[in-house]
Amino acid sequence: MNDLTDSVMNYFRQISAIPRQSGNEQGMQDYLINFACKHNLSYYQDEHKNVIIYKKTTDKEPIILQAHTDMVYVTSTNPFCAKQKKGIKLMQKGQWLTAKGTSLGADDGIGVAMILSFLASDIPCNIEAVFTAAEETTMQGAYQIDISKLTAKKLICLDGFENNTIVVSTASFTDFLITLDQTTQTLDADYHWYQITLKGLIGGHSGFDIDKQRGNSHQLMTKLLKRFPNVFLNRFVGGYQFNVIPTETSAVFATNVDEGAVKDVIEAFINEYSQLYPSMEISSLKIDRPQKVLSCGNDLLNFFEEFQYGVLSKDNQNNVIASQNLSEVNTDKGSIKIGLRANSKNEEQSMIAELQALCDKHHLTWSIVDTQPGFETLPNSKLLSDLQQTNPNAKTIKMHIAVECGIFQNRIKNLDTVIISPTILCAHSVQERLDLDSVKNTVNWLEKYLRLN
Ligand SMILES: [Zn+2]
Repeated sequence: MNDLTDSVMNYFRQISAIPRQSGNEQGMQDYLINFACKHNLSYYQDEHKNVIIYKKTTDKEPIILQAHTDMVYVTSTNPFCAKQKKGIKLMQKGQWLTAKGTSLGADDGIGVAMILSFLASDIPCNIEAVFTAAEETTMQGAYQIDISKLTAKKLICLDGFENNTIVVSTASFTDFLITLDQTTQTLDADYHWYQITLKGLIGGHSGFDIDKQRGNSHQLMTKLLKRFPNVFLNRFVGGYQFNVIPTETSAVFATNVDEGAVKDVIEAFINEYSQLYPSMEISSLKIDRPQKVLSCGNDLLNFFEEFQYGVLSKDNQNNVIASQNLSEVNTDKGSIKIGLRANSKNEEQSMIAELQALCDKHHLTWSIVDTQPGFETLPNSKLLSDLQQTNPNAKTIKMHIAVECGIFQNRIKNLDTVIISPTILCAHSVQERLDLDSVKNTVNWLEKYLRLN
């Protein structure tokens, strides 16, 4: 390894010793300010735990280097809500760095470490180094940071996942909420009542995994229910967060077929889909007591039937650029959550319009409760061509997730933006690992770029 890479890994080790789970970034803020003082660099800090460190040793145009200081902390015994009290124990196996029993935090500690090594080096540069907090939760760091403290018109974010790539677009994410009219009515005819649960799908992240054909439990439940005559819906529940593909749906409904016929339909359904979704399980239960049905039940099932699940469009390089995820449906709470992702403004507007029209058609009340912006590298970007020139192996990609750069580009007019990074696998899990060869490659690339531009 060269000196600069040694320095990066040295900073990464120091950062790893500081607990820095999202919401607990104080230690990192203190560390960064200490660093700035030690190296005689001016800095800015705010109450959101953001830090900006400035280093100007040339008259070149300024550039923002950006990384987030917080991390997702999970342990092998507590994959969802572990509380971080100690630093991360690092382990190296060949070219891979992992953590002992926890997530590694290379996302995005390695980005922070790379920036620090450039700030500490003698490479002539004009850097505005932006360290944000709370990226993994609310992105409030990026939303709240005082952008008047920044003058640069170009930003290299170091929060990616793949070596030798330049991310030129990320997706916006829209939280689309449907509020249900929970009026019920009594069913007078002599119907049979059933509860069906469909579960065992693989699920996943609605950005990373949306093109992996893992199925959506609401879609499959709808297809199943549509096979019974005269269905009246009492309950339809499953899924949770906007960005998670649902794996389990439970429905209570009335129909006028007997239990044997219901079992036959379910068996045929499982057989038909067993190739596509081998882990899917469906169970049914006959319920005796008569119940009320949802007045909006038919509208709801028709909406679920016509809804376009998953990938809506790809570009000519096979990148997903528009997708939607029907995530949580809960008729008990009277709400439906849909997460929309789009890698361009045009895609975003047309998919929102289509979804609104589909809601209107089925008399469903909708609202948009939140949006995280995406970014696109500017047309004819000099930043992009300079990075390509300094690394001819780099290919451009689009990411179908929302990251902080979108917020920066939204807040700073004409901010040219890209993401580069070393390879990080299985981020946010105990399997998270960092490719050390790719760290060296990325550091060399960035050094070359900074020296020439
Ligand atoms: Zn990250």
